[in-house]
Amino acid sequence: MIIVMRKEATEAQINHLVEKLKEKGLTAHISRGTERTIVGAIGDERVLQAVPLEAFPGVEKSVQILQPFKLVSREFKPEPSVVSVGPVKIGGGHFGLLAGPCSVEDWESLRETALKIKASGANLLRGGAFKPRTSPYAFQGLGEEGLKLLARAREETGLPVVTEVMNVNQVELVSRYADMLQIGARNMQNFDLLKAVGQGTKPVLLKRGLSATIKEWLMSAEYILSQGNYDVVLCERGIRTFETYTRNTLDLAAVPAAKELSHLPVVVDPSHATGRRSLVGVMARAAVAAGADGISIEVHPHPEDALSDGDQSLLPEEFDQTVKALEPLLRIEGKKW
Ligand code: PEP
Ligand code: MN
Repeated sequence: MIIVMRKEATEAQINHLVEKLKEKGLTAHISRGTERTIVGAIGDERVLQAVPLEAFPGVEKSVQILQPFKLVSREFKPEPSVVSVGPVKIGGGHFGLLAGPCSVEDWESLRETALKIKASGANLLRGGAFKPRTSPYAFQGLGEEGLKLLARAREETGLPVVTEVMNVNQVELVSRYADMLQIGARNMQNFDLLKAVGQGTKPVLLKRGLSATIKEWLMSAEYILSQGNYDVVLCERGIRTFETYTRNTLDLAAVPAAKELSHLPVVVDPSHATGRRSLVGVMARAAVAAGADGISIEVHPHPEDALSDGDQSLLPEEFDQTVKALEPLLRIEGKKW
């Protein structure tokens, strides 16, 4: 249920309502918009129905949220959310340009990549230290050593870092080094992990699961918000279809669809979506045209030697060209970065 407060509602009236909801065993989530405050009341529907919400002072109306996802819905928060990652903003006209290697491999290549992507205009450094690999024999990532290298790259470049957390036990460790926690596609429905990052304070990049519907993806985001962490950015990274020419099928319609249903920012990862270097730039442009709030691109100084995802990694020069081609589109879309 969402409870829309009157424009002139006072803090005392909002607090009174929130206290009453808590007394009934319901949870209250407050969303302060530019115009008015909305209170989301979540809990047992029968208890909720019995509370005369519109009789509370300061309440304008109460509306039932029909979607199964509540806090992530546009009904709960009509304005787009802006998520801050250190000094960088994503959403509401702010564009996140994430780039970096698939895996953190060594200091020299990470440093070179970070400096070059920054010079090209990237505002966030991505790179995996804990890697979800299909084969147990493939490179699994440098672990904490990789996190330390990411933190060092942040010190040298000023770029906030985004890196994957694969399980609940890693949340505390990864949060110590990262500015944003990535939940990978394979973990989109690891509900314990979603709850754990929801109880933390770091913003979360939630990648869409390999075979997840848009609604399942939004329900996963709901898990994070329901624990109190509202700083979630959705990432479309392609879904599994019958097509094998591309690694995945980039579901571009998911971008405007998710933005229609939710206030959360949506970014696109054309690297994992296509799996082919030649297709990354053009799909990045398509993502901007579809209204994405950011893109995430894999870059490696020597893709032929990359320990993971070399086929889809751009050379730093190719990344630079890609960004240059995006700039006029970003201006048309009115995006700042
Ligand atoms: C990644 O971004 O490093 C990654 C593993 O992507 P995904 O979870 O989308 O496959
Ligand atoms: Mn990768």
